[in-house]
Amino acid sequence: MSTETAARRDFLKLSVMTAGLALGAAGAAAAAPVKLGDSPLTQPALPFDPSALEPVISEKTFSFHYGKHQKAYFDNLNKAVAGTPLAALSLEQIIVQTAGVPEKTGIFNNAAQAWNHNFYWLSLSPKPQTPSGALASAIDRDFGSLEAMKKQLATASVTRFGSGWGWLVLDDGKLKVLSTANADLPFIHGQTPLLTVDVWEHAYYLDYQNRRADYVNALLDKTLNWDFAAKNFDQA
Ligand code: FE
Repeated sequence: MSTETAARRDFLKLSVMTAGLALGAAGAAAAAPVKLGDSPLTQPALPFDPSALEPVISEKTFSFHYGKHQKAYFDNLNKAVAGTPLAALSLEQIIVQTAGVPEKTGIFNNAAQAWNHNFYWLSLSPKPQTPSGALASAIDRDFGSLEAMKKQLATASVTRFGSGWGWLVLDDGKLKVLSTANADLPFIHGQTPLLTVDVWEHAYYLDYQNRRADYVNALLDKTLNWDFAAKNFDQA
């Protein structure tokens, strides 16, 4: 198996696990057993060539975003947990165990940012896609139309003050759009993430400078991975 194929397989495995994890977290909110994923504490390969999303996102942006920013989150996390019981846990378990624990804020931030970026890469597709099947029906049911949903997601992402993330989530059986600040993420709040948009400046500044809205709208129109969203939706 080629390295690229193996990397893609690992990413697909991650996507299945994240869906299972999110279901578990949602179940936890309803006092059901938590089913945790087991993403390793190592940075997975990008699921596409770093130039594959041009011109929406440049190869140069990926070289910094994946090669420097996400790598630093994994490096910092591994340094922080080395020699502690957390080092034996999965990325998801570390996030759950450190969320809301003041003395573990640094570990939570790096673990959650590592996870959020794994999920963000999977939320992107080099080929334009549109939702289909049960997810498309749910979008019409909960937002009225795909365009209305995209407008809400764009607004939530563009208006997030400072750094954070825009999300399409499943919350108690209903699709919702929301944004989170800094490293915060839906599954610790019992919501199943389906897609995410990174709105930290490092995600777009090299290509769009301060024009966050241009980045978000281009990403939502051309590069969302609806197959990934549908898989997360169907498994929730
Ligand atoms: Fe980022």
